[in-house]
Amino acid sequence: MVSKTIPVDDFDLVIFGGTGDLASRKILPGLFRRMVAGQMPRTAKIIGAARSPYDRKGYQEHVRKSLEEFVPKEKRAAKDVKDFLNCLDYVELDVFTPDGWKQMAKMMRKGAVRAFYFSVGPSLFGTIANSLVKYKVADEHSRVVVEKPFGHDLDSAKVLNAELAECFTEDQIYRIDHYLGKETVQNLMAIRFGNALFEPLWNNHHVDHVQITAAESLSVAGRGSYYDQSGAMRDMVQNHLMQLLCLTAMEPPSMFEANAVRDEKLKVIKALQPVSQKDVVRGQYSAGDGEDDYITHSENPSSKTESYVAMKVDVANWRWAGTPFYLRTGKRLRHRMSEIAIVFKDPPHSIFEQDFKEMRGNVLVIRLQPDEGIKMRVTIKDPGPGGMRLREVPLDMSFAETLGEDVKDLPDAYERLIMDVIRGNQTLFMRGDEAEAAWAWVDPIVKGWEELNTKPLPYDARSSGPDDAMMLMHRDGRRWRDISK
Ligand code: NAD
Repeated sequence: MVSKTIPVDDFDLVIFGGTGDLASRKILPGLFRRMVAGQMPRTAKIIGAARSPYDRKGYQEHVRKSLEEFVPKEKRAAKDVKDFLNCLDYVELDVFTPDGWKQMAKMMRKGAVRAFYFSVGPSLFGTIANSLVKYKVADEHSRVVVEKPFGHDLDSAKVLNAELAECFTEDQIYRIDHYLGKETVQNLMAIRFGNALFEPLWNNHHVDHVQITAAESLSVAGRGSYYDQSGAMRDMVQNHLMQLLCLTAMEPPSMFEANAVRDEKLKVIKALQPVSQKDVVRGQYSAGDGEDDYITHSENPSSKTESYVAMKVDVANWRWAGTPFYLRTGKRLRHRMSEIAIVFKDPPHSIFEQDFKEMRGNVLVIRLQPDEGIKMRVTIKDPGPGGMRLREVPLDMSFAETLGEDVKDLPDAYERLIMDVIRGNQTLFMRGDEAEAAWAWVDPIVKGWEELNTKPLPYDARSSGPDDAMMLMHRDGRRWRDISK
């Protein structure tokens, strides 16, 4: 059986930053795939809005090149490309000037869903929102999608929320976090709340600890000076890792509905204990494996920005007290790998001859990338005549292998989330109060570093991070899982 594709209503989507990297690499190829899959109507209108001096034809050519670069040839039938380019239009504008808005308003169709994707830096959000209302481009049913970073700290996030709230209601605002659009992340909810097996074990009685890893093998070369202003904590922990932690730790919502889910996630963020400096390790990658070090890439010889962070986090509530969550993320690590690992407690007693210490607890691994899937480590008898020897094996549910045809053309995270915007489903988007609460928790940690004024620890390129990050686990009698392909 091939998965069902449910078409969305006809829509007009304006992409501010329609000539930028994100639009060219993810948003437009994603929309193309949704059109081919039959989910986006071929009558939809996609309007690029940016400063480049294109007319409609010029923009169509620009997008044709993006499709050639980012969609494999065998998935780009000439008829589909023609139909997709036909959906496109373009408005040249600098959002800080009054030109172009009236032209955009005229392009909007009555009766189609209206969405505006702010694929530009956050300093433009307020101005765009204002002009959309002022020039009547948006109406009261329109949706706006805003990209990360949603602010730099609590104060700036509050300003952004206030600017958007002046023009749109909260149920019109979609703060995108592409981690939430991943198939496995939604599967985490399906596993937890669709199976009676796991929920009784999902607590501090049975779970020893949780590890959340988002490792990248790439450096920040090429965008180092931009990255240097944020660092791993702001770029990854405040949003992506925090969202994964929330979905893992939250109480079952009363229903699978946007505000019910987001209420539960917010409760988790509010239950996070302040993190003391002894529970955080920061790192900066060294030169190696044919590439320069972080300092060179950041173009800032005195940079104290972290390209790696590992931390121990306590969720202070009845379900999780005493069961730590360990988070780590970094650039230039051994492999690109993101996963959530629920490490269950060891069995309380061994009835077998085998050394009890050799029997380790079960681990449920929810893998986000690469090779999305779910794996469970279980102990079985080693096959063959050698007596009752035990051995650990993975019960593997790699989506690609298990679900075959069903997952061959899974929408990528951006595609899925854009379709949710058109459907008006906010479940997988961050609410304003969530973003602020996450910053309120992150800010003191970053401020602590600034006050200490110390440099992050160096770590080898293509390693698992600084040695101190290993110690963070070892001192608790635990160890990180391997960063593997
Ligand atoms: P980019 O620099 O490649 O493109 C920026 C776009 O904004 C261009 O189309 C430019 O014409 C337009 N623009 C800039 N100033 C403008 C103005 N005054 N008026 C009209 N248009 C203007 O940036 P990008 O990489 O596409 O990123 C866009 C946003 O998405 C940023 O906020 C970024 O942080 C975020 N983001 C990007 C990625 C990514 O992979 N590129 C991933 C996550 C989030």
